[in-house]
Formats: sequence, structure tokens, C-alpha cells
Amino acid sequence: MIKLNKLTVPTDIAEKIKQREQRYNELDASGEQIPDSLASAYRAPEVKELLRHETAEKCAYCESKILHVDYGDVEHLLPKSKFPHLRYSYENLTFACSVCNTKKGDFFDAETPLLNPYEDKPDDHLMPFGPAVWSAPVSDRGLITQKRLALNRPELVERRTERLESIATLIGQIARTKTPAIRQVLLEELKEECEPSEEYAFVVRAYIKEILATHGESFRQDALSVVV
Ligand SMILES: [Zn+2]
Repeated sequence: MIKLNKLTVPTDIAEKIKQREQRYNELDASGEQIPDSLASAYRAPEVKELLRHETAEKCAYCESKILHVDYGDVEHLLPKSKFPHLRYSYENLTFACSVCNTKKGDFFDAETPLLNPYEDKPDDHLMPFGPAVWSAPVSDRGLITQKRLALNRPELVERRTERLESIATLIGQIARTKTPAIRQVLLEELKEECEPSEEYAFVVRAYIKEILATHGESFRQDALSVVV
């Protein structure tokens, strides 16, 4: 999980959201049947598109790139079953993979809420170590988030490991090359791999920093400037 930032909702989309919310509230207040199309309109295509852009098409929780394996879910950060007034609230929506969405379910605990990647700093609560993500020792919220979302489920650890293996190969090439132009190209590639839009950026960045801290002498100066 990495820190995310909310996009500004364009006026026309904000207006549509407002209209849906008003209609829903009217029907709800009068006890009339609420059509499924309206009840699920929080995930209207234009809203989903914005959310996808916001998370770089990754799951907001596990950072898996979604679209090549899944359509992805529009997910309520605070569950709509317990916070019905936030059903359409853009601030309460994100984009998540179906596995994280299912594991989260309608869980909510006021004393120990799950991490919100828009409001919390995941670095304060979660610790990357190799391909795994652990909770920081003093963070109950990190612990409950890691356990509830199963952030070390085997398929995730396997995919993160593959990602770190490709980074290790790249770093090995940077350390060994004697050709400045090749070194420069590879460093630029490494920089791209560290971008927050890349899959599993949380563990990738930590891995690179660890290598620089322990084995960085031969390429420390330029590599450090790439990742810090
Ligand atoms: Zn996920």
C-alpha cells in the first residue's frame, strides 16, 4: 500500500453524483423501491474511470495492476452498509481488486480502523521486508490492515518476488557495467521502476534502499539520486 491522492472531480461529474444522491435520498425517505441501477450508480463509468486514474490502475490496497486480470471494483473505503450517507461520496471511493474488496467486506472497527491510503501514511503503519508486507510493531491499524486484507497471501508474495527478481537483475547490471552511457540508461530504467504508478512500488522502493544502504558503494551517488 502506498499513499494516494484524491483527484478533483470535474464539475459535470460532481453534478451527476449530486443528482444521484438526491434521487436516492428522496426514494429512501418516501419508502419507495430504489432501482438497482440507481443503488449501484456510485460505480458509474465516469466515476470508475477517475478512480482508475487516481490509483494508476492498481488496487489501492495491494498495488496489483488490475486491468489485465480483472475489471476491478469501485470500493467504499468506509463500508456503505455502515455509512449509507457515504454511498455516492467520491471521497469515500477507491479502486480495488476483487480479492481485497471481498476480504475487506463490510469490516469496520471504530477503535482500529483499516488504513485509508488517502488519509494515512502507509509507511507509518506497514513495513516492507523482501516480498512481504508486515505491520509496524506499534501499529494496531497496520496489523489489522495486513491481516484483514491478507497482504501476504501467497499469490501476492509470488508476484512481488518476481518483481524484485527483475529489479535485482537490473541493479546487478548497473553495478557491473563499465560503460557510462549504458549505466545512465539502466539508471533511468531503475528510476521508472520506482515510480508510484508501478506495481508493488511499496516493496520495490524499500528493496532498492536496502541494497543501497548495504551494497551501494560502487554506484551509490547516482543511484541514490534516483530513488531518494
Ligand atoms: Zn488488491
